[in-house]
Order: sequence, then C-alpha cells, then structure tokens
Amino acid sequence: MLVYVIGHKKPDTDTIVSAMAYAEFKKRLGLDAVAARAGELNPETKFVFEKFGAEPPMLLENARGKKLILVDHNEASQMVDGYDEAEILEIIDHHRLGGFVTAKPIFVHIEPIGSTTTIIAKFFFNREFEIPADLAKLMVSAILSDTVIFRSPTCTEEDKEVAHRLAEIAGLKDLEKLGIDMFKAKSRIAEKTPREIILTDFKEYIFGGVKVGIGQVETVDLSEVEAKRNEILREMKTLASERNYGLLIMMLTDIINRGSLLLYVSEKPELFKEIFGRVYELEPRGENAYYIKGLMSRKKQVVPPIQEYFK
Ligand code: MG
Ligand code: MG
Ligand code: MG
Repeated sequence: MLVYVIGHKKPDTDTIVSAMAYAEFKKRLGLDAVAARAGELNPETKFVFEKFGAEPPMLLENARGKKLILVDHNEASQMVDGYDEAEILEIIDHHRLGGFVTAKPIFVHIEPIGSTTTIIAKFFFNREFEIPADLAKLMVSAILSDTVIFRSPTCTEEDKEVAHRLAEIAGLKDLEKLGIDMFKAKSRIAEKTPREIILTDFKEYIFGGVKVGIGQVETVDLSEVEAKRNEILREMKTLASERNYGLLIMMLTDIINRGSLLLYVSEKPELFKEIFGRVYELEPRGENAYYIKGLMSRKKQVVPPIQEYFK
C-alpha cells in the first residue's frame, strides 16, 4: 500500500525537501512511497523550486485512512489534518520530543542537528545510494534554510559537511549567495506593512505580571528594514497601547554580520537599558533603539535577561 512521506503544516523548505528525499530513499528500498505536503509553499520554498525548475510534492489536505511517514516534526499540533485516523509508520526529525503517543511501536530517528535533510542525506551516503543532481540542489537549499546559512546556533559540523558534499553532486558553487537570495525571497520587507513586519514572527510572554512582546525579522540587508524604522516604531507604540505591553521589542537581525538592531517601546523609559545594559554592550542608534553585536536569538539571548530582571 502507498505510503505518504509528509512534513509539518505551514511547510518550510526543510520539511518539503526532506519529504521528497526520504520518499526517494524509501523507493530505493522497494517501498511504494510518495512525497506530500501539508500546506502551501512559503515564498522562500517557492523561490527555490522556481530557481531549480523543480516540481513540489502533492498537497495532502487530509490523511485519514492513509499510511504516513512524518519528517521534520513530531508534535501533534503540527501534523497534517486527519493524522489521528492515519497509520503513522515512522518519524524522522530534528526537534525536541513533543509528547506524541502511539498505539504501536514505530520507527523513530531523531538527531540534534541543523536540518532533517542532513539526516536523510546521511542515509543515502551510508547505503552508497546515488543522489540525483536535481534533488541534491533542493537538499542544499533546505540545509541552508534551516541553518540560516550555517550561522544558526543549531548548525553542526555535520550539516556543513553534508551540505558541501551535496553541493558537489549538485554542481553548486556559491552557497553563501544561494542562501542570501533565499533569505531575501523570504523576508520581503518592501512588500510588508509595518504591522506585518512586527507580527510575522512574534512571541508574547508574561514576566512578573508584565506583558512582553518580542518580534523578529531575520534579514541579509539591514538597511532595507532600517529605512522603515520610524514607521515600525510608530506602529509598535500603537500595538503596545492596544495590547497593553509593558515592553515591546522588535529585533531587526542582520544574519550576515551577526547582530541585531533592537527597537523598543516601554512603559518605563529606562526599562530596556536596565534589563540589557548589564549583560550586553549597547550601541545607541537614535530614538528607542540600540544595536547589540552578536545578538541573534530571541530564545537564547533576549528572553533570559528579561526573565532574570523580573524575577
Ligand atoms: Mg521545519
Ligand atoms: Mg527542519
Ligand atoms: Mg525553520
């Protein structure tokens, strides 16, 4: 019976490409497998598929009654609709275990590594299966995407080695340039309103009874978004009073030079400086803004000092 290899909802490049690569791998082993996707391609993935003239996997809107292999996720909230009435055979992933419970034992392979595609490439290499150049191009792109062009704290030496081995197969020379073009396609600052820029990647927290909002834009060209800083700041003030944020921060992250321009709005004017001034060197950049060198991660570098302050 046909087995669908499928990634998470709101697909990214790694989830789409790892489904394709793993379906191909399973076919080599004699399984009747097909790659599928649980949603529309994002602008970055669209860019990659157009660039390399590749055909995306089929859309599977509901998996009821199907046999599934899940790639690049393991949490029920991210699974394709109908997963609870499907038979899940395997999970191949690089995320934390999210509490999913199965009726029967299944095959699970999870590694703390930069991308699921890296894991699947290793399966090919270990079996000495050939990877077609067209697929290798997509696989390189997937690794560049998930590792933020090898700059993410989650990127390992293995991700780099595997990406370069795939690039050789694909005949791709300039991975930095490919990655930058992909991130440009993804951020699309020019087309977005200030509110869209703030809320596209946004998280809300409560620390010591204070409501805190933190948005982030990862960009390869800080000047593009910096040109809109006054509009963004104005919109942040509106948003803060609408939603009662005691502190609202917007991280404009430069992934090439590794640093962030932080815009902030707070009830107490000195709050930002009090929180971050003791842990980072703050470079003032005009009204309600500081640049912090080396700062890239909301989870690892912005949230902890705030949490500490309000403790
Ligand atoms: Mg993913
Ligand atoms: Mg991934
Ligand atoms: Mg990702």
